[in-house]
Amino acid sequence: MSSPPAVLGGPKAFPDGLPLVRPYVPGIPALTSRLQSILDSGHLTNGPTVAALEARVADLVGVAHAVGVASCTSGLMLVLQALGATGRVVLPSFTFSASAHAVVWAGGSPDFAEVDPATCTLDPADAAPLVEGASAMTATHVYGTPCRTDELQALADGTGIPLVYDAAHALGSKRAGVPIGGFGAAEVFSLSPTKVVVAGEGGLVTTDDAGLAEACRMGRDYGNPGDYDCRFPGLNARMSELHAAVALASLDGLDERIAHRGALVARFGAGVAGVAGLSLAAVAEGDTSTYKDLTVIVDPEGFGLGAAQLARALKAEGIDSRRYYHPPIHMQKAYASRWPERRPLPVTEELSTRVLSVPLWSHMTDDQISGVADAVARIHAHAAAVSLALT
Ligand SMILES: *Cc1c(COP(=O)(O)O)cnc(C)c1O
Repeated sequence: MSSPPAVLGGPKAFPDGLPLVRPYVPGIPALTSRLQSILDSGHLTNGPTVAALEARVADLVGVAHAVGVASCTSGLMLVLQALGATGRVVLPSFTFSASAHAVVWAGGSPDFAEVDPATCTLDPADAAPLVEGASAMTATHVYGTPCRTDELQALADGTGIPLVYDAAHALGSKRAGVPIGGFGAAEVFSLSPTKVVVAGEGGLVTTDDAGLAEACRMGRDYGNPGDYDCRFPGLNARMSELHAAVALASLDGLDERIAHRGALVARFGAGVAGVAGLSLAAVAEGDTSTYKDLTVIVDPEGFGLGAAQLARALKAEGIDSRRYYHPPIHMQKAYASRWPERRPLPVTEELSTRVLSVPLWSHMTDDQISGVADAVARIHAHAAAVSLALT
């Protein structure tokens, strides 16, 4: 702690820069034979490779049906459309914008609820008074942290509305040992490049409901069951064979990657354990997170700087960071006139000023994560001077 942080003229922790994410991309050898047979077959979309991916993921998460789609966003749209969620849909504002966009595209209107400020997942107590008369509820396993699935299911069952999970971050997460993927009416995963399992672009709907799975299969193909007499206005949300091949290779070694990410997070946590005003987004005891993001919550009183200032000081060290999620969805321009209920969301609004996601990826080294933790501790140790330097 002798040398000052870079923002005060000390040496940069990472002179070559440390990005927020380096996607884990399978190498060519793991892909060659699959890609070759796809190209030889001439069957480039929604063929046997997509079917193989669907079977593997259904087995992995323990559900009867997995449906490959072009993205998590389109998967959520198709699920909500199939469930007829055209009224109010209760969901957190503290999540990625696509969670709400899917509600709007499916003809529903978002009704935002608070999250638990420790885990950052939907707060069942705040959602409770909103579910009566709603047409669905959606919840996000933010950062890979499993939601309080038992309480949310009880809420949904109490009024008979479907519960859908935005599981974009959570392929490989477990709630008390049970894989994410089988909770609620359906869960929807993303395979886009910042996630832990990647296809390039892609998503997967998982469900035990055969009718819902069938509606998604038809819906991803324009609503056409095969006879060109479309049953409803669907999408082109098919997954291409080439993307499915990348996703299959990306699933290899997933458990080991998640274990390594967990160990990196533990190392980071130990490195900042003595830093006042800083906590990690919490994961419940007994749950497993993919740690799609490593997110700290900064209390400016204790830490001496706000999350936005910490981000600037980290940038001076060469360390990338992102304010997931700031602004929360209900404060984004797109939603200014799309939330007629407009209740105050003080927990969400404060949390969103306090969060900061710092670099984490599946093949990151111990030294790299320790370097990030040391930089955070150094910045905190000089917080008063850093604050002055940044104004
Ligand atoms: C990435 C993400 C999505 C969107 O996934 P796409 O596959 O890019 O459509 C949806 N929800 C959350 C929480 C995400 O992080």
